[in-house]
Amino acid sequence: MRAAVYHGREDVRVEEIEEPTVGDGDVLVEVAACGICGSDLHEYAAGPIFVPGEEPHPVSGETAPIPMGHEFGGTVTAVGNDVTDVDVGDVVAVNPILYCGDCRYCTAGRYHLCESLGFIGLSGGGGGFAEQIAVPREKVVSFPDSVPPAYAALVEPFSVGLHAVRNADFEAGDDVAVFGTGPIGLTVVQAARAAGARTVYAVEPQATRRDLAAEVGADVTLDPSATDALETLLDETDGGVDATFEVAGIEQTVRDAITAAKHDGSVTIVSIFEDDVAFDPNEIVLGERAIGGSTAYAAGPRGGVEFNAVPDMFADGTLDPDPLVSDRIALDDIVDDGFDALLDPDREAVKILVEP
Ligand SMILES: [Zn+2]
Ligand SMILES: [Zn+2]
Repeated sequence: MRAAVYHGREDVRVEEIEEPTVGDGDVLVEVAACGICGSDLHEYAAGPIFVPGEEPHPVSGETAPIPMGHEFGGTVTAVGNDVTDVDVGDVVAVNPILYCGDCRYCTAGRYHLCESLGFIGLSGGGGGFAEQIAVPREKVVSFPDSVPPAYAALVEPFSVGLHAVRNADFEAGDDVAVFGTGPIGLTVVQAARAAGARTVYAVEPQATRRDLAAEVGADVTLDPSATDALETLLDETDGGVDATFEVAGIEQTVRDAITAAKHDGSVTIVSIFEDDVAFDPNEIVLGERAIGGSTAYAAGPRGGVEFNAVPDMFADGTLDPDPLVSDRIALDDIVDDGFDALLDPDREAVKILVEP
């Protein structure tokens, strides 16, 4: 079968690989769609980072070349002998987190903080940029019939946004600001809205992404390159919002996300950074602001709280994946129309779905 395989930096090849074998505890998934993520781009442009280059990944035991793609779902076409609660024909989303199962975090049920954390499609275990993939039954959650199966690929990024909001400290009726509305920032906007935020501010330099933020629920959008977005936000909120989210991964947005939080407010950092950043710790001390990180989403034998909630929230319209999808492409076009398109800001792609 065909799959997109990571061989090294700027070397992703769509090639023939072996058909997956279905173990007793596995389900075989025919991939409906797999999203291209920022971390895929980092691997392509600057990797290997997460991809095991030299040392085998401790959970998968694999090194590159490995198939890519960790945001995916599709239709079950076969189940292993021990699988009794998933049927052929079911549509599922796949929680790609790989965990060891016996470090201090795994034994406490905090699988996404595992010391050996990895992801299917980045660390081995197959990938979603392929016609099919066999995964352990515990990694799949059922996906409702009323939602198009391709949107099962969006359960992963929406779980990131939902997890960030669940990690933040704010209550219904509070004001929220989101710095950066790329695909994950857009899921944070939607999750904050769903959690009962009063006013959601979105700060984003790209016009297309600001418009999308407004479409998915931001009340006020601000362009940091054209106006003093921060000053406007502080004026309108009597000195700061209750909770801010940093989803851009640069120094300026970290600093702004801290300043934009009111005294005693919460700052949640969701980005992955390429470099160290500097900020004024007195803003934390003198304002008693709390900074926290939020990574991925819960995982474990039952798929994790966010992965279980998002499909139902798609079905009832609380979360809407549709506006995020800017392009749908074939597997063979993944480099030219996928990775290269996302790395070119002029092409203004948001979430690209690969439909193998
Ligand atoms: Zn991702
Ligand atoms: Zn572990």
